[in-house]
Amino acid sequence: SLGQTASARAKDVESKWRGTKTLGGKTSNYVDGQFVESKTNKWIDLPDPATQTVLTQVPQSTSAEFEEAVSSSEKAFPAWRETSLLGRQAVMLKLQALIRHHMDDIANSITLEQGKTFPDAKGDVLRGLQVVETACGITSTMMEERMEVSKEMDTYVRKEPLGVTASIAPFNFPAMIPLWTIPMATVTGNTLILKPSERDPGASMIIAELCERAGMPKGVVNVVNGAVDTVNAICDDPRIKAITFVGSDKAGSHIYHRGTANGKRVIANLGAKNHAILMPDANRENALNSIAGAAFGAAGQRCMALSVVVAVGETDKWIDDLVQRAKGLKVSSGFEEGADLGPLISPAARERVIALTGSVEQEGGKILLDGREFKSADFPNGNFVGPSIVEAGPGMQAYEQEIFGPTLVVVKVKTLEDAIELINANKYGNGSAIFTTNGATARKFEKDINVGQIGVNVPVPVPLPMFSWSGNKGSVLGEHGFYGRHALSFYTQNKTITSLWKSEDATNSRASVNMPT
Ligand code: NAD
Repeated sequence: SLGQTASARAKDVESKWRGTKTLGGKTSNYVDGQFVESKTNKWIDLPDPATQTVLTQVPQSTSAEFEEAVSSSEKAFPAWRETSLLGRQAVMLKLQALIRHHMDDIANSITLEQGKTFPDAKGDVLRGLQVVETACGITSTMMEERMEVSKEMDTYVRKEPLGVTASIAPFNFPAMIPLWTIPMATVTGNTLILKPSERDPGASMIIAELCERAGMPKGVVNVVNGAVDTVNAICDDPRIKAITFVGSDKAGSHIYHRGTANGKRVIANLGAKNHAILMPDANRENALNSIAGAAFGAAGQRCMALSVVVAVGETDKWIDDLVQRAKGLKVSSGFEEGADLGPLISPAARERVIALTGSVEQEGGKILLDGREFKSADFPNGNFVGPSIVEAGPGMQAYEQEIFGPTLVVVKVKTLEDAIELINANKYGNGSAIFTTNGATARKFEKDINVGQIGVNVPVPVPLPMFSWSGNKGSVLGEHGFYGRHALSFYTQNKTITSLWKSEDATNSRASVNMPT
């Protein structure tokens, strides 16, 4: 293994971090500065996806515990709002250093609970850390407009925090997604209730402890574990002003509609079906390696996974080469040396991927590489499937649905225009990439394609956090994006002040009733 066995890593995580459990105990909540065990009688088993050993039990927290968390967040708000921007920036600077220092611990927890490979788990932490790093620049990004609009009259803007906010996270990026929201919500002066995914809350518990060590006062970040009940409580509590959600279409649509009906700001990032166009003039090596990496990395459980390759013209002959590359990938526990793909999150996810992959046979497609039967000799109980490549198209389940597994769909078309038309007709609009050496082709694609995040010779075009997340169409509900300028707008409300300070008293003796002209 990568120097240490999974059980040694589990012991290490559990011994160092107060809220985590990895050896069969119970995951805590973090409320008002305390790691506390829930008093619930509803516990959710969290099995290691590579072995099925139950690592921890996650509480479906009680309504009283949820109440306590919201009260704590509400109580912490006034003082946190009054903490100077420099004071909040100082906390971010410390948090940044602490996360970097403890990256391996967070990554260990991710590989244990979520299954992705250890090097990939470090990438999960790093992408979240970059949001903290960007939040450290708040003293520049919060600078606002001001203008002298008339004699002795100024107009300027104050960006004020909203109050208590909430973040509901998915299983696939246990560190990155909580870190999309914790820094941006808190550095702007809000308090935050985090509800991690009940499938892998360990990384969030470690991050909560790091927030405390970074000097965040109690109540600024609370972590309440649970599933649907906690989500509904977040949507309904009038003290919570804004919700961010990342996850599936079904949950996201429910949260968006319930939250906005209750007068809250909501952003919901949903599912995806990201297409890569392969042009005949592409650099073949770069294109095929990029596509294989982005289709099968994290076993396809990334919202930015390239799950469809659109082979234009003669590039249909390159697919054999892609099959060879996919065959060369190693499927194993995320802690094994050289593992490229870990297990899927659950047996149900595995069954679903197998069924969707197989469905192409009944629907007129073809299986070009079949990973359905993959068995790991070392980890026979894991939720593994091998990489699959299937030929399919619109109207077929494997093409229409987000598979969220290591199955790459190939669609063959004749021209660039056909490829763009296909992608624009897809309901999702998260991301898309093109592989070409022709600038004019790339430019046409960038202009005409209707998705939010575009890669040119880049497989996973996730924008760095000084930009904003920009998925569109069916991949998002709500007006704002995560991080970047969008997040500043999401987490603040403007006050526009117009003030008149006359140098000497020139008050008229009569009131003026007309609008000034
Ligand atoms: P999920 O919707 O099952 O769970 C996400 C969160 O919602 C969890 O905290 C869960 O407890 C809660 N939840 C689940 N079902 C619910 C329900 N019926 N009512 C209320 N709350 C519910 O999603 P997941 O399986 O954890 O994550 C995978 C999905 O997330 C994929 O569709 C993926 O594309 C998407 N995702 C999108 C982005 C993006 O930025 N667009 C990023 C990462 C993941």
